Amino acid sequence: MKAQPTASHFVNGRYVEDTAGTPMDVIYPATGEVIAQLHEATPAIIEEAIIAAKAAQKEWAKYSGTERGRILRRTADIMRERNHDLSVLETYDTGKPYQETSVADATSGADALEFFGGLAASLTGEHIQLSGGDWAYTVREPLGLCVGIGAWNYPTQIACWKGAPALACGNAVIFKPSETTPLCALKVAEILIEAGLPAGLYNVVQGMGAVGGALVTDPRVEKVSLTGSVPTGKKVYAAAAADMKHATMELGGKSPMVVFDDANIEDAVSGAILGNFYSSGQVCSNGTRVFVQKGIKEAFLKRLTERLSTAIIGDPMDEATNFGPMVSENQLNIVLGYVEKGQAEGARLVCGGTRIEQPGSWITPAVFADVTDDMAIAREEIFGPVMSVLDFDTEEEVVARANDTEFGLAAGVYTSDLTRAHRMAAGFEAGTCFINSYNDAPVEVPFGGVKASGIGRENSKAAIEHYSQLKSVYVRMGETEAPF
Ligand code: NDP
Repeated sequence: MKAQPTASHFVNGRYVEDTAGTPMDVIYPATGEVIAQLHEATPAIIEEAIIAAKAAQKEWAKYSGTERGRILRRTADIMRERNHDLSVLETYDTGKPYQETSVADATSGADALEFFGGLAASLTGEHIQLSGGDWAYTVREPLGLCVGIGAWNYPTQIACWKGAPALACGNAVIFKPSETTPLCALKVAEILIEAGLPAGLYNVVQGMGAVGGALVTDPRVEKVSLTGSVPTGKKVYAAAAADMKHATMELGGKSPMVVFDDANIEDAVSGAILGNFYSSGQVCSNGTRVFVQKGIKEAFLKRLTERLSTAIIGDPMDEATNFGPMVSENQLNIVLGYVEKGQAEGARLVCGGTRIEQPGSWITPAVFADVTDDMAIAREEIFGPVMSVLDFDTEEEVVARANDTEFGLAAGVYTSDLTRAHRMAAGFEAGTCFINSYNDAPVEVPFGGVKASGIGRENSKAAIEHYSQLKSVYVRMGETEAPF
């Protein structure tokens, strides 16, 4: 089999197998072939991972930040050296074209390891002077055992975005990848060990939601970080709350992208393509509601369809291919269902949306025009290559409509009016806003949602707050006074 790992799980510094677990086939989305066979984690594997992680974390917390950071930065270097192999694996896991995976996955994971590796040595508390010579200091402490649960669209990146800040702060990690894309996180674990990470600090256990559920409800776990859909997020957040665990929820979206008449049309079309069709539309922050001001609507649609006709759909391993399959047959059927629903609701299918009849889960990129706010394709997250174009007249109107959603992950604006661009950014109810750009996610910038799109932030210095906690130590310099 093309991508069979040494074993299903990585626990306590080594690959482990337990064939008693339910078998899981790994399918290459481009061909439908089974490329690996794994087993779901049994309770024994989960127990082994928790025991190993708890023991290793106590020692890891005693390392200096410089020592921890050095290992993370070494991991980043190895990942960059092996970018080709890791990108091929990411393509096998997800079906995303190598043209994308070679620049957006292991590289992004390496960025996170490098960034948090660099930050680790400067994670300090503070000294607080008080009256009468008394004082206090704060100590930034790790949380303990952090569980990461990943979605299937960016398996390497998610494994690193959660692992890097957690380890930098002195925590141990158990990561459960999506059962659809279980391969990449194993490689991350293997490389961390090669770079010198002590055994037990980064474990990968495979399985479906139930394995995630077992981890989230275990009282020995201190923190849960999920990347997934809003319904799963609500369940996992509630389960974490039952034990007062720390939680980060990176959830779904239905983000608006607003294109004003005065926008550079070529840039706006590029933004709409990037924000709807990169990774075959399987990106949480996608700007799937494209509001186009009436004056440029037809010109925008014309240029968009011209450029979409040049998409190269084909073998994801071919470097020329820039549009791959959906991650699974299941996801393809969800998307095809929405294409039907959009047509039934009266939206105009400008192009695409048809299943490509060949092995694997393929669909052509779809654009709907004349979409109205009440249609399902404008309200629900599709998580596939389906763009909805909506018309608008005024700035006030479009801000209100852009915000009229339960989600709040991202929002974008294309305009050449500087003050309007910033007014829009101020008005958007979203965790990340883009001005004349879309879907950038550099590690230096906080990433996360508002409203139902989640809580907490990944990346940047902000992530440190979500993987550590402050202890305050009060120091009395004089006598202790009591009333009696
Ligand atoms: P799901 O919500 O279906 O699953 C996410 C993960 O949670 C999977 O590993 C899943 O396991 C696991 N899981 C499911 N149920 C439970 C449970 N009760 N307890 C613990 N874990 C559970 O999301 P998808 O994998 O379908 O990914 C797509 C979603 O992820 C979209 O909504 C997308 O917007 C969002 N996403 C958000 C991002 C962000 O940063 N905001 C980035 C990327 C994606 P399994 O699937 O193996 O059963």
